Amino acid sequence: MASIIDTIKAKIDVVEEIGLVVALQKSGRSFKGLCPFHNERTPSFHVFAESQTWHCFGCNEGGDVFTFVQKQQGLEFRDALAYLAEKAGVSIEDNGTRNPEEEREASAIKERLRKLNEDALLWFHQMLLRAKDATEARAYIQSRGISSDSVIAFGLGYAPNQGNALSSFLLGRGYAEYELVNGGLARTREGAGNTGGVGSVEGTGEASGGVYDYFRQRIIFPIRDTRGRVIGFGGRALGDGQPKYLNSPQTVLFEKNSVLYALDLAKDAIKLAKQAIIVEGYVDAIIAHQHGTRQTVACIGSAITEKHIQQLKKLTKQVTLALDPDAAGVTATEHGIQEALKAFDRSVVPVPLAADEHRTGTRKEGKRNEPRGMIRLEEQVDAEINVLQLPPGQDPDEVIRQDFSLWSYAVAHPIALVDYYFVAKTANLDLRQPGGKTEAARRLLPVIAMISDRVKRDAYIRKLATMIAVDERSLHDELRRVLRKQANPAVIAVFSDPMGPRSIQGTLGRQRPITKEDGREDAIEPAEPAKEKSNREEQEQQIYALDRNWQSRLQWEDYLIGLLLQNPGLSQYVCGIINDGDFAGTDTRELYRILNSVYQRGSSPLHQSFEQYVPSALLATIARARESVESKSSLSGTSLVKDAMQCATRLKRIRLLQLNTELRYLMSEANEAGDAESMRQFQQQLLAIHRQLRTIDSAMHLHG
Ligand SMILES: [Zn+2]
Repeated sequence: MASIIDTIKAKIDVVEEIGLVVALQKSGRSFKGLCPFHNERTPSFHVFAESQTWHCFGCNEGGDVFTFVQKQQGLEFRDALAYLAEKAGVSIEDNGTRNPEEEREASAIKERLRKLNEDALLWFHQMLLRAKDATEARAYIQSRGISSDSVIAFGLGYAPNQGNALSSFLLGRGYAEYELVNGGLARTREGAGNTGGVGSVEGTGEASGGVYDYFRQRIIFPIRDTRGRVIGFGGRALGDGQPKYLNSPQTVLFEKNSVLYALDLAKDAIKLAKQAIIVEGYVDAIIAHQHGTRQTVACIGSAITEKHIQQLKKLTKQVTLALDPDAAGVTATEHGIQEALKAFDRSVVPVPLAADEHRTGTRKEGKRNEPRGMIRLEEQVDAEINVLQLPPGQDPDEVIRQDFSLWSYAVAHPIALVDYYFVAKTANLDLRQPGGKTEAARRLLPVIAMISDRVKRDAYIRKLATMIAVDERSLHDELRRVLRKQANPAVIAVFSDPMGPRSIQGTLGRQRPITKEDGREDAIEPAEPAKEKSNREEQEQQIYALDRNWQSRLQWEDYLIGLLLQNPGLSQYVCGIINDGDFAGTDTRELYRILNSVYQRGSSPLHQSFEQYVPSALLATIARARESVESKSSLSGTSLVKDAMQCATRLKRIRLLQLNTELRYLMSEANEAGDAESMRQFQQQLLAIHRQLRTIDSAMHLHG
């Protein structure tokens, strides 16, 4: 039985789908175009019709039609599935663990709630534009410099001070009281006849039964999801009303801690600007948009959560925090940064232990102390998080209105996170006193340790040394201690195989860690012995051979997912070897991603309930994955770890071989076209892939 995903893939051609947004040019059996995910002048973005996959050899993004839609439109897998299913005319019942009927009911409720929100929005908006008693509201909006275009674009509204004006209107339109309450637009009156805080209700002469309005005497900011649908409201009190800001309560549509205000209007600009700016307030966001800084969103509620960042990182790798710079703000910003760091993808690179040692004389000691046969897997935060520097005490909207050049300069020149930390973390210290120096080092070394680029790390050590006037070398010693202690970002992989340690240590000890820069740095390396005079047919045969390997690859993916489902702890060993992009199966890739995010959140509700995190289209895959593990004899302890790592390595290897084949194919085409520049680039990438393959092969004794 074909899965929904397979059915969709059979109906939607990846070339056609990508062709809608990328101008593709046929080139032999593949297609090429300018990559939509990075800036380039010559095309390195390729779509392969046979395998229905795409890959950019410039930024190394790739995948299938699902990956493309997710990345290009900034969608969750679930939403990409819905989008593609609709396009393919396939019906999906994405119901988690619910049955289809319950699901239909749930989606009907949501649909009704959206309608309710739309109606409320129109009403609030009309109130702001027309109501007599909205004078104060209109004056406030004007005083904050919000233009009438922005009032319309953001759908701003006004909730009057009567107790039940909106409720009466909505009840009149046929909504039930419980719907208003569930939708977060009204509250239930306490006890019949108790009109305590809503005395004015009586004066309206309209019966609104047992409910009264949730928002009263407030400016209303409609909150929309990424697709622009109203999911809730934020209300700012006029006058001395408390609380100053009141947001919709949690509803089936509105999840406070994950929504970013104005993301629907900002998402295209974020992709274009390759930057997302997070501000604190609704008005900050509106004013930023109004003045052309449309890559701005506001976080709703007091803190940036991982969920906020999850959404942004699909659009950009650069997140700029423009939060309140005063003292309280510094803590909030710092918290935001921690969250941001947690959420960004971490590419984990194997680092030989020896490389950890610095030229400060402890080399031998270090080697003796480290257990043999281990690889340290070092995490890198795969994103640029920086901070906007604004004049103290001024909110972004004030800065924008008073001195736009100051704002745009700050936006274009945000300061690096680490530099920000240098200021923020030492603001209350006396760096001339020994105590202050020690404390500064204690606070800043863990930050410096987060930097994966050793050159940068050394530069910051130098900066710290100068700042607190201590010897650089002692800071290096201290940094090493910090690095060693950081159990979390570093993962120790133990190979139980007695043959393993020697060869791993031996090989990796000589080689440098695999990093993204390697492809460029090593360009001068002598070329791989290119003895194979590869002709075109041979290349094509290889592609077909890969097709034949497809099934076995998918089986390994099932097996790995099965292992991880059974033992969530294994994910720390596996994540250093492969990432979700290495998966060939759309379903296994998404499951791997979910597994990792659940594991990283630290919760391990993986026993019976993992299924509830997963779109129902993937449930069959879970069952298959569990089965594939159960059919094998059960392993435990180190052999289980080894099994999982071998499986992951095998998959990584297959992935690299696939890239290898694709590259060779493209090279032969470039060769025929006499395109020397492309040849040279492909050759370099080929070398990088070969290096990775060699590392893998010698590490795991996999041959052939
Ligand atoms: Zn690219």
